[in-house]
Amino acid sequence: MKKLWCKLLIMVCCVVGLMGVSYVPAQAAVVNHTLNYFHYNTYKDGDGRNWVRIEMGMNKGNLEYEVSQNPDKPFQLVVKLNNTNRGDVKKNIGLDRKIARYMTLKNDHRDMVATIAVTDNLEDHEYKVYTAEVDKKNRKPYRLVIEIAADKGSVNKAVGDERLDGVEGHTVVIDPGHGGTDTGAIGPSRVKEKNITLKISQDVARILQLNGANVVMTRDTDVDVYGPNATDKQELQARVNVARRHPDADIFVSIHCNAFTKSSAHGTSTYYYGHSSRDSMLSQLIQNEMVAATGLYDRGIHSANFYVLRNSWIPATLVETAFISNPYEENMLASADVQHAMALAICKGISNYFRRVGR
Ligand SMILES: [Zn+2]
Repeated sequence: MKKLWCKLLIMVCCVVGLMGVSYVPAQAAVVNHTLNYFHYNTYKDGDGRNWVRIEMGMNKGNLEYEVSQNPDKPFQLVVKLNNTNRGDVKKNIGLDRKIARYMTLKNDHRDMVATIAVTDNLEDHEYKVYTAEVDKKNRKPYRLVIEIAADKGSVNKAVGDERLDGVEGHTVVIDPGHGGTDTGAIGPSRVKEKNITLKISQDVARILQLNGANVVMTRDTDVDVYGPNATDKQELQARVNVARRHPDADIFVSIHCNAFTKSSAHGTSTYYYGHSSRDSMLSQLIQNEMVAATGLYDRGIHSANFYVLRNSWIPATLVETAFISNPYEENMLASADVQHAMALAICKGISNYFRRVGR
């Protein structure tokens, strides 16, 4: 019995001794920071990119901090502030909601962990964390600053001609006419309508996305939307249904090439059904830009009983870009430059539409 007590005593001494060695010197170096200020705002940088800036002020400088991201939680940014306590700052703080939803502050032993929930996958170039010295003029203490950029940042941002206002946040359904077993019209040099409409549509989608719009394509490859050899009604209803599956879709834009038995027929026209005045407004705004961009003959806008227009629940338009049956216009339609000019014109028309109708 005596022997056992002795052994235990030695063990306790050893443990205490080890603890003493490892803990005491570290404690002496501790400098406690206490939060005493919180502020956030949003701003636009020189590239037109939106940021949210979060500032956490504290009683003293020389803060040590660590930034981390858990790959399994790409919608979170975690910043650990060493030797810091929350002070009077709230545990849960709502943020701008567009870029960052909220921030939580949790004590973890001596440290404080700030977790920021963001609205989109956060890449390395989309945030900055740094400290800022006391700003006497603006009455701000020493701060840790966290800045987070909106998605679709400067890396993929539209510049020059392709920069459009008003489309950001809107959802546009793009319907490239025909596809798969349905070639659409075929020009005198065998250019197929289905290939031209897809190229223009893909460019329209790219430009809209660069400007922050959501794009839904009824098809994005050379396929039938319903399935091969469907009836016209099945195929067209399948295209309408794509829009119906997206309740936030704002407009439906179908892109085609015109054709006529007489090869002399030429020019651009745009069609609408006329559920509301928005159908014709959208058509006219696209038609204006198309004619201005290509110099093609302006055949105007017309109401038409087209299936995809009549059955659309949202403002809808169908653009007949040019006559593929006309040798001159077929040649134009096959040119990548003309396809791009047409795509940009359609996007400008869409931009003008959203600027006019607003949210
Ligand atoms: Zn067509």
